[in-house]
Amino acid sequence: MASWRKCVFGCANAGTLYTLPKEEKLREKWLTLIFGNPQHEVRKNLFVCERHFSEDSFQNFGLFKSGFTSKLILQPGAVPTIRGADEPAEAPSYTPRATILDAPTPSPCPTAPSKSTRTVSTQLSAGTLKLHHVRSRGVQATTDTSDSCTETETSWLQLSSTPMKATTSGIVDRPRKRPRLEIEEEEEEDLDISDISLPQPHDSTYEPGASLTEVSEMTEMDTAEDFEDTKYIVFESCLKKLFQTCPICKQHCNLQRRRFGTFVSFTQNCPHCLYHRKWDSQPIMESTPVGNLQLSAAVYFSGASFVKMEKICKAMKLQVHQYDTFRRHSRLFLEPAIYHKWKTDQQLFLEELKKKDKIAVGGDMRADSPGHSAKFGSYTLMELESEKILDIQLVQSNEVGGSFYMEKEGLRRSLDLLQDNNINLDYIVTDRHTQVKTFLRGRNITQYYDVWHMEKGLSKKLDKLSKDKECQLIKKWSAAIKNHMYWAASSSKTGPEKVAKWTSLINHIQNVHTHDDPEFPKCAHPEKVSRDPSKWFQPGSLALYKVEKLLVNKRVLGDVSKLSSDHQTSSLEAFHSVVIRFAPKSVVFPFVGMMCRLYLAGMHFNENVKRAQATSKGKALFKVAYPKYKKGKPTAKPVKTKPTFGYVTELMRLVFNEVFAEPGRFVDQLKSVPVPEDLSAQHEKVSKDEVIAAHVSRFSRAVGGPDQGTETQHTAHQDPETPGVSGVQRMME
Ligand SMILES: [Zn+2]
Ligand SMILES: [Zn+2]
Ligand SMILES: [Zn+2]
Repeated sequence: MASWRKCVFGCANAGTLYTLPKEEKLREKWLTLIFGNPQHEVRKNLFVCERHFSEDSFQNFGLFKSGFTSKLILQPGAVPTIRGADEPAEAPSYTPRATILDAPTPSPCPTAPSKSTRTVSTQLSAGTLKLHHVRSRGVQATTDTSDSCTETETSWLQLSSTPMKATTSGIVDRPRKRPRLEIEEEEEEDLDISDISLPQPHDSTYEPGASLTEVSEMTEMDTAEDFEDTKYIVFESCLKKLFQTCPICKQHCNLQRRRFGTFVSFTQNCPHCLYHRKWDSQPIMESTPVGNLQLSAAVYFSGASFVKMEKICKAMKLQVHQYDTFRRHSRLFLEPAIYHKWKTDQQLFLEELKKKDKIAVGGDMRADSPGHSAKFGSYTLMELESEKILDIQLVQSNEVGGSFYMEKEGLRRSLDLLQDNNINLDYIVTDRHTQVKTFLRGRNITQYYDVWHMEKGLSKKLDKLSKDKECQLIKKWSAAIKNHMYWAASSSKTGPEKVAKWTSLINHIQNVHTHDDPEFPKCAHPEKVSRDPSKWFQPGSLALYKVEKLLVNKRVLGDVSKLSSDHQTSSLEAFHSVVIRFAPKSVVFPFVGMMCRLYLAGMHFNENVKRAQATSKGKALFKVAYPKYKKGKPTAKPVKTKPTFGYVTELMRLVFNEVFAEPGRFVDQLKSVPVPEDLSAQHEKVSKDEVIAAHVSRFSRAVGGPDQGTETQHTAHQDPETPGVSGVQRMME
């Protein structure tokens, strides 16, 4: 097909062909150049090839030159200005380039390869060497008649491609690759010039307006550091094209490939003229390819899993280093960098807090699994004013004689840190863990309870009560009771006031709105209330008895008096949901790995905790959600601005500019952390790496397992109802 199409000037390998424009004036300009006569009669299919246009006639010359497109697109109104071809047009009109694409009938290569071939692309070959005054063409567009390549591989390499036979004449078998692509290209050329004004890349995902391809001139060399350089996915077949032909004598070269993870190097030897060069795909620091270390760093710092990333790469045959190398990178450079940054940032924060009179903190523990089977507990201390994470303590259950004691131990270590830094603690907000209560009393620290934790506990019990047929009224009241607890806590100055307001609830639900307690003698709501008697609890009813017993017993009242009025720990819950993204519960991490992932979560959280609401055209953005816990009731949620990842950039710099140069100093710093003996060491001897790599399916562990249904206070942290979680759910996206 298409063999009749050729440039009117008879150019061989004409490249992109353009038809005459329809617009009269423009058409005359074209004809003037071609025939010297604006009125020249022409046959229907007259083509002019790309060589007759100046570079600025094209919309995408930069893109073309750098090999990203095979097809030049004319600017609207472009006129050919160059008569005759750049190269002598040896091939007359009866040997158009399209014949070599006609797959079924072989035809002899029309011209000698050194002339007819638009030399294999790229900056590295003919282009930079300036042997030919030709535009170097993009790889895809290469109608390369010298396609064969004798390749030698050193024995330890797996030779993945079949070497092709070279012929002495230099004229070889037709190109076997991608005839389809070439044909498609031909078809596109059928377009009238007026239709070619828009880019039409082969990529089917291309949408006009989308910045699929970005044209940028590469004239100024970027002075960015190696790790900041831009990287690409390059196909091996494309790389080979750079090296298989000798840039001096155009003969076939011997190629040797070396691979090391993401790194590849080619050594090119020309047996004919002894041309030689070696090319590395990435810079090497000492003996470490920068890309390998950076891939490990990128995976770790973004909270991803190397094992998963490896699977993705395998699926597309993308070369990466192995898990062992990742672990080595982690131990030597990445974990020391994370630890150093966390400790440095923390010290700065502590210095800032020292200037304050007193600080209020919130604390909570997160266990890596529910019940008493947890291996790790992490205690997090948050400064409540800034809502920033101040400290994270990782406790392993065997350090403290069981997971039950992890919370108290983590809290103790965090408080010691504050004390060592001479920081005055005003009070701490926590949940109602008994051990913690006792411990704080012992240290003489004012403690308040988080309202959400307390309300959640009571609400669960209320729900259970309302299942009783005689107590169905409770259901109607449960939302009001919840709100009442928040109100009692936040509107009161003192403990007795909180208790008086909370207790008034029992009168109120019986339609009694004045109370004996002088702290709160009268309900705060308007006088008007429902006259429907079925709405109110009846004195002496079972429902009232049960509600009273649950809500105003001595223990509850004691706790209500210590509810926190202003600061709550909901942001801590939000932090726990960030932790899950950096340390998924399905992966078993070693102690240091777990600690570093917690620190990363802390960095991410602290950088993004106070993100503003996003706006569009001056209006605040909301999205409507249908949360399960509201039974599908639509809820407006503010859309936050996109999270930032400045800590990742900083960690990269730290790794490449400091840690890599002097790992010992940083490794020693990390080694100062006492690492408890691994739990597995107490049971059976398994290699540590095996333990790390074991992706334990939570599902298979939970089914029929002892943990099922035994929810503790801490499992509630994963609950979608967690307030504030919604705010961070998108933090990582
Ligand atoms: Zn031409
Ligand atoms: Zn050579
Ligand atoms: Zn009332």
